[in-house]
Amino acid sequence: MTHYPDLSPYEYFPSRVPMVNVGWLDPPHDFPTGPAPDGLVAKLWRLAKRPRNMARGFHWCGFCEDEDRFDDLPLASGEIHVELDGVRYSAPRLVAHYVRDHDYLPPQVFVDAVLGRGAHLNHPDA
Ligand SMILES: [Zn+2]
Repeated sequence: MTHYPDLSPYEYFPSRVPMVNVGWLDPPHDFPTGPAPDGLVAKLWRLAKRPRNMARGFHWCGFCEDEDRFDDLPLASGEIHVELDGVRYSAPRLVAHYVRDHDYLPPQVFVDAVLGRGAHLNHPDA
């Protein structure tokens, strides 16, 4: 999987609003870690069940040695999108796994968007 720095411009698919990358981790690039904010993992998991942009290719976690850990992941391909203050954030579905299993701490704006301060594009019922 390709590495994109957090909050770098997203250019893979055209978007009608500005879109930036979050959580496109790949070794050997380092990433920020920390305790996940309350509810973040559960919300990311829900979002991962309704992926966007399925064509972007397969994403496998480059940090896991044991692929058995993928068993409970809605993996393969696709992104999750959340929006806050007119900016859309694109993260790989794997971001839920990165946060849960690798202590990845996404940028605060992304956390805010995921936790309900933004419009959840994948959650018309939310
Ligand atoms: Zn992993």
